[in-house]
Amino acid sequence: MKRFSADYIFPGNSSPIKNGVIEVDEKGQILNLLNPAKEAIDWEEVEVFEGIICPGFVNTHCHLELSYLKGKIAEGNKLTGFIKEIVNVRDQFAEEVRMKSIGEAEQEMWKNGIVAVGDICNGDSTLDTKQKSAIVFHSFIEVFGTNTSVADEAIAKAVELKQNFDNDRVTIVPHAPYSLSPKLVEKVIELNEGLMSIHNQETASENEMFEKGSGELLQSMQNFAPEMKGFSPTNKSSLQSYLPKYASTERMLLVHNTFTSAQDISFTKTSPIAIYWCFCPNANKYIEGRQPDYTLFLAEKCTIGTDSLASNWSLSILDELKTIRQKNMQIELETLLKWATINGAEALGLTDKLGSIEVGKAPGLNLISDLIDANISEKSTVKKIV
Ligand SMILES: [Zn+2]
Repeated sequence: MKRFSADYIFPGNSSPIKNGVIEVDEKGQILNLLNPAKEAIDWEEVEVFEGIICPGFVNTHCHLELSYLKGKIAEGNKLTGFIKEIVNVRDQFAEEVRMKSIGEAEQEMWKNGIVAVGDICNGDSTLDTKQKSAIVFHSFIEVFGTNTSVADEAIAKAVELKQNFDNDRVTIVPHAPYSLSPKLVEKVIELNEGLMSIHNQETASENEMFEKGSGELLQSMQNFAPEMKGFSPTNKSSLQSYLPKYASTERMLLVHNTFTSAQDISFTKTSPIAIYWCFCPNANKYIEGRQPDYTLFLAEKCTIGTDSLASNWSLSILDELKTIRQKNMQIELETLLKWATINGAEALGLTDKLGSIEVGKAPGLNLISDLIDANISEKSTVKKIV
C-alpha cells in the first residue's frame, strides 16, 4: 500500500480536499480517501507533494491514426483548408513512419496522465498499439459519404473494421453533420449501440450551410461532390438540423462546439439524448483561431479532447486546460478537472473504474505542480504518480 497527499486532492466527482490523503494498493486501486479536517491521520509513510492530485485524465477525442502529421499541416487555415491539406499530404508517408508515430503518441498520452481515450478511426493502423496499451481505448469508427450510392459500401467497410477491433469498446459513428447522405445517417443509426460521437459546429460556415445553403464549407464540398449542388438548407443551425435524427442514441459526444449558441444548448434539452460537449481548445486554436464561448456551457456536461497531432502541438489534457484558462480565469479549477476526468469517463461508459478518486476504483493519479494561487498556470506540469 502507498499513501499520498498534496496541497489539495481533487477527487473529480466531489469538492477538493485540503491536504487529503489517498491510500492506494499496488494495483492502483483506491483503498481510502481521507480528509484531515474530519479524521485523524497517521502521517507516517505518507508521501507529501506540493501541488494537487487528481484522477487520471480522460481524453474524449483523438485521431491517433493521424499522429504522423505532427507539424506537417499549416496553422490557421480554417477547417476547409485543413481538410484540403490533409488530403494532399496523407499519402506521402511510409507505413513504418505512421506506425511509429502512433506508438509514440500513445506513450506521450500515458506520460501526460491520460488513462482513457475516445479515438476516431478510419482504418486499423492503431489496433496493435491499442491492444498493447495500458490506456483504455474506445474506438469510434467514422463513416462519411454524401453520395447515396456509397452508403452501403461505407457501412460494410465500417462493420468489417469493427470486427477487426474485436472488443466491446467500438462503435460506428458519423463524421460530421454535413458529410453523410441521409441514407448513410439512417444506416449508422440502425447500428447505433448507445454511444455516438460527431464533429459539431467546428466552423462558422457549417451553420451557414444549414441556415442559408451557402458558405465556404458547402462551396468546397460541391467542388468534389456534385450531389451537394442539390443541398437544401433547413433554416436552422447545424445542430438543430441533425440532432433529432439521432434521438434513439443514449449518449452523444458533440466535438468542438466552437460555433454553438445558447439557443443550440437549450435546443438539446428537448432531446432525450445525454449530451456531452467535448472541447478541443488547442485544435480550435490551430485550425480556426477561435475558441468556443465556454461560459455558455458551465451548467452542462463538458469533456476535453486533444484531437490529433495533425492539429495540435501535444497530446496533453493539461495543455488543453491551460488554453481554456488563458481567457476564462473565472472558470473554477474544480470545474475544469471535472471536465477532464469524471465527465469523460461517464461519456465513454468507464465510471466503474475511472474518472474519480473513490474507494474501489483504479483511476490513476496525476500530480499537477507549479501552480499559481492554487490554480493551473502556463508553467504547470503533470506527472503520473499511479
Ligand atoms: Zn476530430
